[in-house]
Amino acid sequence: MPFLDLAAQQAEIADEVLPVWQRQFASAGFIGGAEVEAFEQEYADYIGVDHVIGVSNGTDALELAYRAAGVEAGDEVIMPANTFIATAEAASRIGAVPVFVDVDDDHLLIDPDAIEAAITDRTRAIVPVHLFGQTAPVERITPIADRHGLVLIEDAAQSQGATSAAGRAGALGRIAATSFYPGKNLGAAGDAGAVMTDDADAAALIRNLAAHGSSVKYVHDHIGMNARLDAIQAPVLRAKLRRLDRWNQARRAAAARYAELLADIDGVRVPAVHPGNEDVWHLYVVRVSERDRVMAELGEAGIGVGIHYPTIVPLADAYAGLGYRRGQFPVAEAAADRILSLPMFPHLTAAQQDVVVAALHQAIG
Ligand SMILES: *Cc1c(COP(=O)(O)O)cnc(C)c1O
Repeated sequence: MPFLDLAAQQAEIADEVLPVWQRQFASAGFIGGAEVEAFEQEYADYIGVDHVIGVSNGTDALELAYRAAGVEAGDEVIMPANTFIATAEAASRIGAVPVFVDVDDDHLLIDPDAIEAAITDRTRAIVPVHLFGQTAPVERITPIADRHGLVLIEDAAQSQGATSAAGRAGALGRIAATSFYPGKNLGAAGDAGAVMTDDADAAALIRNLAAHGSSVKYVHDHIGMNARLDAIQAPVLRAKLRRLDRWNQARRAAAARYAELLADIDGVRVPAVHPGNEDVWHLYVVRVSERDRVMAELGEAGIGVGIHYPTIVPLADAYAGLGYRRGQFPVAEAAADRILSLPMFPHLTAAQQDVVVAALHQAIG
């Protein structure tokens, strides 16, 4: 019983992708080209933004988004304590300083009420992370950003297709970054990512920075990076994008079924859905006490589970230099000890869910 089964996704798209790969291999068109441009246009239409720039991975996408938003060395970037480390890493790589704030207990998303106290005269940007397939409450964060003259940059790596009353994740800030890491809801056959924006100047700068700071060959306007999207990823992403709504719908059905089955088990807190939101369930995260024991027992029963994430980013050894201490993020820290991600993927069957729930029931006692 795997945590994530990608083989079924690959099988569904093989007939569409393999002939394109054969043509790309024969023509040696490996960088850029028609497939990449077609994917960028299709993803822009899907998200509802004017510009999509396909890039090498989600971390580079975030770095490019920060740079295009004007984040510079020494600037502070506000983000939730509970995220994948890449949100912070991308800021640190350009010499900016991640500033962490706590999350709300219902959704484990950045807590808008905690943001204002973290703003200083060095703050440049706020990064809502659309974690676990949810949409962060940007309608409450945008007024704060506007009041303080800050840029809103979305980390949409876990929420391809998610919507809230404010709109679709990835189209809600000045710039958004996403990841097509294979395990994401829209996954490539390797590393890939994208930056989304309605701002034509930012889009041009991102495209330039991602290609060695160059728009005309061997004319280098900026110190950039090599962060282009490999051409062979485009047909995979195009084929999966065509199925994304259906696959997200299957995840929603599985999440509803988990909620129903788990309602009868005392001691399991199921994830909440914000009214009006369409979550895409990148992860299905329950909370239990004695999480490590429960997790070990599920492991022994052959059930693949995960923790997202066992250590909150400000308390990671990598960020010891920032001087954060235990106790500063009470909600995120308490959650980190209790969260458990159950198997969740579009092709998860009802029978597999029954097995997971029975094993969880057994472990909880
Ligand atoms: C996966 C992920 C990233 C980074 O993406 P990579 O493609 O692995 O570099 C960034 N932020 C979040 C929230 C993610 O889940």
